[in-house]
Amino acid sequence: MSTTERPRILVVGGGYVGLYAARRILKKMRYGEATVTVVDPRSYMTYQPFLPEAAAGSISPRHVVVPLRRVLPKAEVLTGRVSTIDQDRKVATVTPLVGESYELPFDYLVIALGAVSRTFPIPGLADQGIGMKGVEEAIGLRNHVLEQLDKADSTTDEAVRRKALTFVFVGGGFAGAETVGEIEDLARDAAAYYPTISREDMRFILVDVADKILPEVGPELGTWGREHLQKRGVEVYLKTGMDSCVDGHVVLNNGLEVDSSTIVWTAGVKPNPALSRFGLPLGPRGHVDTQPTLQVSGTDYIWAAGDNAQIPDLAARAAGVENAWCPPNAQHALRQAKVLGDNVISGMRGFPQADYQHANKGAVAGLGLHKGVAMIVLGKKLKIRLRGRLAWYMHRTYHGLAVPTWNRKVRVFADWTLGMFLKREVVSLGAMENPREEFYEAARPAPMPPAAEADDVVRQKARAS
Ligand SMILES: Cc1cc2nc3c(=O)[nH]c(=O)nc-3n(C[C@H](O)[C@H](O)[C@H](O)COP(=O)(O)OP(=O)(O)OC[C@H]3O[C@@H](n4cnc5c(N)ncnc54)[C@H](O)[C@@H]3O)c2cc1C
Repeated sequence: MSTTERPRILVVGGGYVGLYAARRILKKMRYGEATVTVVDPRSYMTYQPFLPEAAAGSISPRHVVVPLRRVLPKAEVLTGRVSTIDQDRKVATVTPLVGESYELPFDYLVIALGAVSRTFPIPGLADQGIGMKGVEEAIGLRNHVLEQLDKADSTTDEAVRRKALTFVFVGGGFAGAETVGEIEDLARDAAAYYPTISREDMRFILVDVADKILPEVGPELGTWGREHLQKRGVEVYLKTGMDSCVDGHVVLNNGLEVDSSTIVWTAGVKPNPALSRFGLPLGPRGHVDTQPTLQVSGTDYIWAAGDNAQIPDLAARAAGVENAWCPPNAQHALRQAKVLGDNVISGMRGFPQADYQHANKGAVAGLGLHKGVAMIVLGKKLKIRLRGRLAWYMHRTYHGLAVPTWNRKVRVFADWTLGMFLKREVVSLGAMENPREEFYEAARPAPMPPAAEADDVVRQKARAS
């Protein structure tokens, strides 16, 4: 951390909002006008819409993340967590990866902590559930699924095999529907290499408490998406919740009980709970209460945006929807970040603030290779709805161009192009999660051969007498 005479703009969180806001501020700022400091426990921003494809192996894990230091060379990037904020003294407490926490003074503050998985106290969930918020989880899921095929192929125990080949997904929004679509594809392709496993031996279950999946693309495409998954053999249970999953024994509230080694939890998100320690005004569901200018209510030097902020949706309100709030998605996060960046510069120079207003442009979702849904909003009453291969191309084109930096765009398109000619990689690298295990085994003192052990006993007895 550098000490500086210039005002400091502290950006808390280096995800979608943090990265884009910092870039915008640095672009608009005069030389030496301020120090921009970005604090995040990870040294990279994660392009979350690519996580299901990373889990399926269509995109390399390194290409779905954007290294903050490389993209923000003029910013000060600190790897750590902001744990508290003292507004009276204008200091944040940063807990670095190692060592003591320290205080960081700031003049202007951007709150961009995003969201975390929304969980419930369901017995077994904390031990068994796999989330889908970070690249680590996506790669962990991929290795885990392929490992289940290895297990099923090599066991003689039918119950173990059935449990390994049963995959449960809870939550049918963007993240859940895309993940089950991609993982079903991956497992189907991988099964070709296991003589004892066919697709029919595997069971995929998607559960949602709502009466539809993929609400983001509207009821018509959501229904198409559900029917499409069902045609691929995914069992979809709507208006259904999971009551428990202790030791992988899944109990649904529709009476279904199955044993499963894979329980993927994508049942929505909630604002980052760390916000409760920042002393900021919070809305009823824990978001930072934010004005249309993206200034935190009651302040003129703190801005917030993205999944952790409750921001009036002016476009929806103008169209007659009362009390509409911006939904937590990348489409809004990206655009909010740009307005936020401009407003921080205006605030610093004493100029007026601009309101954030953006009308929904639609949504795209991939459901595995060559399968997807897309809704494009062209006007108040004009929407184009696409499904199948064309929608999937839209999904790839949109996200391929949206991922930050040309470096990442090129790498992602290269991954996809290679995937067209080469078969999908189906190797599990689960051992990477414990890379020291083999060395640890090798370095352990070897057990003594029986003869040496007998000698040792004689020696010890002699010493004792
Ligand atoms: C699997 C998945 C698929 C998705 N698909 C789509 C899609 O197709 N289309 C779409 O529009 N949206 C999609 N989304 C949603 C979209 O990714 C989010 O809306 C967007 O990332 C929100 O941006 P953000 O900056 O608010 O939060 P994030 O991008 O999550 O960034 C928050 C950052 O804050 C950091 N942080 C957390 N705690 C602290 C702390 N104490 N101190 C400092 N930093 C901290 C985190 O490490 C993180 O880097 C998807 C999300 C997921 C999970």
